[in-house]
Parts: sequence; structure tokens; C-alpha cells
Amino acid sequence: MKIAVFPGSFDPITIGHVDLVRRALPLFDKIIVAVGINTTKKYLFPHEQRMEWLRQVFAQYPNVGVDAFSNLTAHYCQRIGADFLLRGLRNASDFDYEKTISQLNHIVGGGIETVFLIAQPEFSHISSTIVREIIIGGADASPFIPKEIEIRLKP
Ligand code: ADP
Repeated sequence: MKIAVFPGSFDPITIGHVDLVRRALPLFDKIIVAVGINTTKKYLFPHEQRMEWLRQVFAQYPNVGVDAFSNLTAHYCQRIGADFLLRGLRNASDFDYEKTISQLNHIVGGGIETVFLIAQPEFSHISSTIVREIIIGGADASPFIPKEIEIRLKP
């Protein structure tokens, strides 16, 4: 069975993430969208909230699971029997960063292959970082987030 892990912070999930998963569906038997737990990283949204949004958004896809993991992504993949990682590339800085991580994961994960999909032009400007800025700034983030989730803006 071809299992891919799509790791990320998803703080919050955007329509860019959803598009990537949808496009990768024909490539794998199962995709696990996995929230990395990094205790030193500061998030805007709590872990459980991010997980709940992922469950809501991907409920309609029988081949997509939602999970969380601590420590190394490569070890998590080995533990659940996933031979592939899924990541998106929006621009050259994504590439520079992802290249190193993918090479490391290949070594640490005993041959795990990272499959990259280039972001579609209509989504390549969307990042969780930008969405967080919009939310913190009090503007409407709904054009960038899946319609299943509702982010209440702070007054
Ligand atoms: P991380 O904290 O690991 O960067 P993110 O949640 O920001 O996690 O992103 C997870 C993955 O989703 C990354 O591979 C990123 O390149 C990809 N991604 C994010 N936004 C988009 C987008 N708009 N189009 C395609 N891929 C995207």
C-alpha cells in the first residue's frame, strides 16, 4: 500500500494545503495529513483546534487520514509504514528549504522519498503565515481558508 504523510503545522489549514492533497490523491492509496508537534514553536491556534479543522475539511475524503506526531517526521513515517512524504513547492525559497529536509529524511528514514507538487498559480501566494497576519490584523481570511472552517475574528 502506498502511504504518504503530508506533514505540517497547518496553523491554520489553507485552501493551498487542500489543493495539494486533492492533487496527490491519485498518486497514493492513503494520505495522512499529520500535524507536527513542536513544543518550542509558538502557534496562533491550539493543537486540538488545528486537528479538528483538518478532520472537518478531510472528512469527505475516505483515503485521507488526520494524525499528529512528535519528534522526527521520518521516524513517524517508519512507525506507520509510510514510504512517502508529500510537500508543496510555491517558490525558490520553499525549494531551498525542502531540498535539504528531503535529503535528510531520505537518510534518516531509510529511503523515504519526498514527492513534491508545484503549487498551482492561483494558490502559490497563499501561506499559513500570511493568513495568520490577516487574522491578527482583523481582516477577513475567508478567501484563503476552506469553507468548512470558520475562524472567528478577534474583536
Ligand atoms: P510547515 O510548518 O512544515 O512549513 P505548513 O503547514 O506551513 O507547514 O505547510 C505544509 C506544506 O504545505 C509545505 O510543504 C508547504 O510547502 C505546503 N503548502 C503550504 N501552502 C501551500 C500552497 N498554497 N500551495 C501548495 N503547497 C502549499
